[in-house]
Amino acid sequence: MVESLDMIKERITQFQQAMPYCREILDFYALILEEQARIRPQLKITVPVVSKKLLSSRLDKGLSLLGKEGFAIDLDVAQKLFYILSEIGQRSTPKMGAEIPRITEAAERGTLVLRELLSRHYDMDHLNQAAERCGVDKGILSFLIHASVKPSLDAQMEQLKGDLKLEEWLQGQCPLCGSGPQMAQLRDEGGERYLQCSFCGCQWRWERIGCPYCNNKSFDSLHYLYSEAEEAYRVDLCDACKGYLKTVDARKLDYEPSLDLEDIVTIHLDILALEKGYRRPVATPWSPLTDSCQEKS
Ligand SMILES: [Zn+2]
Ligand SMILES: [Zn+2]
Repeated sequence: MVESLDMIKERITQFQQAMPYCREILDFYALILEEQARIRPQLKITVPVVSKKLLSSRLDKGLSLLGKEGFAIDLDVAQKLFYILSEIGQRSTPKMGAEIPRITEAAERGTLVLRELLSRHYDMDHLNQAAERCGVDKGILSFLIHASVKPSLDAQMEQLKGDLKLEEWLQGQCPLCGSGPQMAQLRDEGGERYLQCSFCGCQWRWERIGCPYCNNKSFDSLHYLYSEAEEAYRVDLCDACKGYLKTVDARKLDYEPSLDLEDIVTIHLDILALEKGYRRPVATPWSPLTDSCQEKS
């Protein structure tokens, strides 16, 4: 994490003043970060050993180091966090208030096998089937599962990214897990572009021009949208795959952005891109939160 939790919470308060329709959801987001940070010291995970041989056998061939399934998860911590976040979530929005009790009841009855869902957290087919079988909301279940394993993912990502040559990877997918980017940021004097993984949160440098989702580099099918009032933000659009990617120009902010938070507070840009017929090619962990903000904005 680039900033301390206190600094992010201060920023959340500022966003809440500017965007009253996001107030509830940002309160919830702050509580999630607090609980994830509180449980982190209890984590017991063995970080996968990365030998030089493994590094060169994968990264040099353009393959991600671990894949999504390669992260170790502390299931006891994840399970504990799942119930804590469920408790907080069900007080946060009416939709979560209706859905979460049904999810936790199914987990307590055993019709939803929580430990299996947590250990196969990357397997969306498995999660969707479990949600369908129990008649619970897939987006909210997926969000709770992901938020519960996030401290395990973060701990490994932080440790493993030091083994990667993040400046040299230069691919549209995450060097650790192979997922597509959630958001991009421009930083450093030259405005280098960095992508943040939609799954593990790793950031890596990528080319300035081009769509990371389909590798299209043709100028005439790449555009962007921005609002003059917000010069630090833009949405990159690709006509080849109809994907969009939100970008924060960190050089135009007087703080170091946390891209998860910037993602939530730029939902008006998602709405703009969606209205123009573009879509986000990756699932974002925050969609149940941002959906609720979108309805109110
Ligand atoms: Zn990743
Ligand atoms: Zn594309």
